[in-house]
Amino acid sequence: KSKESGRGKVLHYNSTMFEKIIWRVEREEALKHAIANHELYLAFQPQIDCKTKEIIGFEALIRWSNPKLGQITPLEFIPIAEETQLIMPIGKWVIDETLTFINEINKISNKRIHVAVNVSVLQLIQEDFEELLLESLSLKAISPDQFVIEITESVLMQAIDATAAKLERLQAIGLKVALDDFGTGYSSLSYLKNLPIDILKIDKSFVDTLGETSSHDDLIRMIVQMGQELGLHMVAEGVEHQSQLEMLQTFGCNAMQGYYYSKPLSKEDSIKLLQIENKN
Ligand code: C2E
Ligand code: MG
Ligand code: MG
Ligand code: MG
Repeated sequence: KSKESGRGKVLHYNSTMFEKIIWRVEREEALKHAIANHELYLAFQPQIDCKTKEIIGFEALIRWSNPKLGQITPLEFIPIAEETQLIMPIGKWVIDETLTFINEINKISNKRIHVAVNVSVLQLIQEDFEELLLESLSLKAISPDQFVIEITESVLMQAIDATAAKLERLQAIGLKVALDDFGTGYSSLSYLKNLPIDILKIDKSFVDTLGETSSHDDLIRMIVQMGQELGLHMVAEGVEHQSQLEMLQTFGCNAMQGYYYSKPLSKEDSIKLLQIENKN
């Protein structure tokens, strides 16, 4: 599709090895300077209570806009950041920006709205991850219960020993832990009860197929109910249609996130949305 769009072009399956190397080197080089050049920013996607339709939280999603390469999605650059260790400064930047955002929303909303951040396993296993996080929280005077760490299922399983104890300590301080993309990995619900998690995010691929067959719908209903029996707050990801929301409501799902309610928003628009909600 974007064959002629210059250097910002996407890689195709038939790109030559040379093109792939150039693509990669250009991005790696540009990513090194992305923080200093103010090319990174966060978008915030609202999370809605399925019953009341009120905003209960946001998920912070990183964005990268480079003058030469254009807009690069996190699916493209997070793996590069991980391989080059740039994820450490980038991850810290995401956390600090999120904490600033929390302070801003606290000025306009009296509800305790939480904000979730996606954390890579490399970040989490850093020895000083906890210390740095607690330092940032206290520096900005933010209560830990407004901060959620999202980790993917595969990440947690990969490094269960290194991460579980750490997540437990973070929970003890009051932070919430969410398991992202649930259903795309291998963990069974019964296994989850041994893991230090508070929130389960049902992957979009499950939500997408809601309404296709009744046996599939029953499966999702069961996941929601079993998760709740384990004491987990259930969040559905990628809700795009009213019919999906209605089914999730009847299943008793706690919260949802998706284009049906809102795409990820700029900081300014997120604040406007909260102000409008406060008036109603
Ligand atoms: P994720 O954490 O599972 O985030 C959900 C993704 O689904 C986001 O894509 C979001 O924009 C998209 N989405 C939300 N609702 C809908 C919907 O209704 N329809 C569709 N089609 N998509 C929807 P995004 O922002 O491109 O992020 C992709 C992934 O990149 C994230 O998946 C997360 O794993 C990773 N990521 C994003 N920001 C960060 C970050 O700051 N740090 C790390 N380590 N990873 C991040
Ligand atoms: Mg996430
Ligand atoms: Mg997800
Ligand atoms: Mg995902």
